[in-house]
Amino acid sequence: MHVPETAAPARLAKVHEPEANLEATLQAYPTKMSNALTILNQTFGYPAFRGEQEAIIGQIASGGDALVLMPTGGGKSLCFQIPALLRDGVGIVVSPLIALMQNQVDQVKQLGVRAEFLNSTQLIDAAERVQRDVLAGKIDLLYVAPERLLSAGFLQLMERMSIALFAIDEAHCVSQWGHDFRPEYLQLSILHERFPNVPRIALTATADELTRGEMIKRLKLEDARIFISSFDRPNIRYSVVEKQDARQQLLNFLREEHPGDAGIVYCLSRKKVDETAHWLKGQGIVALPYHAGMETDSRRRNQDKFLRDDSIVMVATIAFGMGIDKPDVRFVAHLDLPKSVEGYYQETGRAGRDGQPANAWMTYGLSDVVQLSRMIEQSDADETHKRVERHKLDAMLGYCETVTCRRQMLLQYFGEVGKPCGNCDTCVAPPQTWDGSLAAQQAMSTVYRTGQRFGAGHLIDVLLGKVTERMKSLGHDRLSTFGLGKDLDDKRWRSVFRQLVATGLLRVDVTGYGALLLNQASRPVLRGEHAVRFRQEADVEKKKTPKTRGKAPVDLPADRQDLLEALRTLRRALAETQGVPSFVIFHDTTLTQLAMQRPQNRAQLVAINGIGAQKLERYGAALLDVLRAHAA
Ligand code: ADP
Ligand code: ZN
Repeated sequence: MHVPETAAPARLAKVHEPEANLEATLQAYPTKMSNALTILNQTFGYPAFRGEQEAIIGQIASGGDALVLMPTGGGKSLCFQIPALLRDGVGIVVSPLIALMQNQVDQVKQLGVRAEFLNSTQLIDAAERVQRDVLAGKIDLLYVAPERLLSAGFLQLMERMSIALFAIDEAHCVSQWGHDFRPEYLQLSILHERFPNVPRIALTATADELTRGEMIKRLKLEDARIFISSFDRPNIRYSVVEKQDARQQLLNFLREEHPGDAGIVYCLSRKKVDETAHWLKGQGIVALPYHAGMETDSRRRNQDKFLRDDSIVMVATIAFGMGIDKPDVRFVAHLDLPKSVEGYYQETGRAGRDGQPANAWMTYGLSDVVQLSRMIEQSDADETHKRVERHKLDAMLGYCETVTCRRQMLLQYFGEVGKPCGNCDTCVAPPQTWDGSLAAQQAMSTVYRTGQRFGAGHLIDVLLGKVTERMKSLGHDRLSTFGLGKDLDDKRWRSVFRQLVATGLLRVDVTGYGALLLNQASRPVLRGEHAVRFRQEADVEKKKTPKTRGKAPVDLPADRQDLLEALRTLRRALAETQGVPSFVIFHDTTLTQLAMQRPQNRAQLVAINGIGAQKLERYGAALLDVLRAHAA
């Protein structure tokens, strides 16, 4: 954007203006935006399109259909928002996430776009007003819940509207095989039948081919152009640490890498969620719990706080998830192993939607493998189902134990090839491996000699030669492997057993207390026919992966931290006055850039990402006050 300071700020005809300016604006500027890039620059305040955005916008703006597969944070919203501003009439956005509509509408309203929503949370009066405004051509974007859209009344109403496009968000909800299935989505093909000339764009972050086929078929998108983006999330740093004292490890991670940041901590059970949130609070962390067992009200309240505030740690089960549309989640931590790579990728994908550096961090140990294996075997599912779950768990374990690039492995899982990324723990500090054939034999032999009735804890005690009452009464102090493993310490042995289980060389007895069992694969190892290499666990205390920045990028000089803090305070005040989340006012990216570049006038302000005409008008003066106070 290059608006000279003296010139009147560029106005967009379809962009809402304060009443007083409206006449002047309409006279001074053409009534229809002709250029997508101009809208991107002036309304959204971004200098350039990302990836395929421009092609997608072109396809829709010229009246075609599109199916867009793009990862979370890829920038899907612009792909329908800009065509809706380019074309005559209202853009109708179907979204299943009623709770988020308000947020989305708030965000575009901040840009001066005339947006509203219609769903069941609204009072009748408000809904009627919105409908009147739509008919009067006063609305550019209308977010509608699918059940409302499909109601007879609304279908009739649409006949009387001028419609720019239909955007079907979270289009994977049409898939009966997915866990987000919404039956109403199946009826959305009606849009094509009733309004064949209105372009449609279906969007999702779900990548697999089965779902893709279903979306095309059920939404009648056979003629749509398909846009598939890479699912890589380069700003997310993946790391997995060996579980020791998980809570303490989490606390260190929060204190060292994310002081004051917003993030999500996933736990497997509700009980653990409550306990962890409580404990973190006791340690001075602003943490809130979220799980399906909580009262609806307190759950909603916590979610709301998390969205609004920019420094809350949400401790949650995976019930906290779909559509957490908060751009500044700086980390996602897993205290327990997720059940599948798909789940893991979706959960970690909630970090760093704004493209700023973010962490996906996980603690993982043998107990996770035991627990999940047991859950699978003890579930009521049939054998076919269990087999699928076991495969998924194996893939997840493979990810945890890998000595190669984690991102490469994740992308490969989704059918993409990539190079080592340089932004995961194994890339940053490549793990060593060691010849563990002898250790594996000693471990297996101990399993065998103790009758395949004990878990790793006792087996390690035997190997380390611990003389205890229990050991004596079991007679295990007389075993040939007693004290044979003193070359390795307790920690190293735990890693050995974990890796033996994770790679299928030992099995967990899931019917009892997690005793370890030999299996077919153990034999060649025991006989010395099959060499085993283990991953050398990094010494957690010594090896710190370079800091992934929290609030501010590492390269933000110390003297700018104060300025950034001042900008955040201003943002919080603005957000509170308007009753909206902070990110609705400005994203972190914008604040960081402001702190870096310290613009001193309006012309310099509009060069910042995320400051368009409307935000310049509204907040320019307040920003300049802060910036000038911190001038060099
Ligand atoms: P998605 O819906 O795909 O998860 P969003 O549409 O919410 O992603 O966009 C993610 C973030 O990227 C938002 O903060 C958005 O403002 C920003 N963004 C999108 N397109 C661009 C662009 N061309 N330049 C800069 N930022 C962009
Ligand atoms: Zn990597």
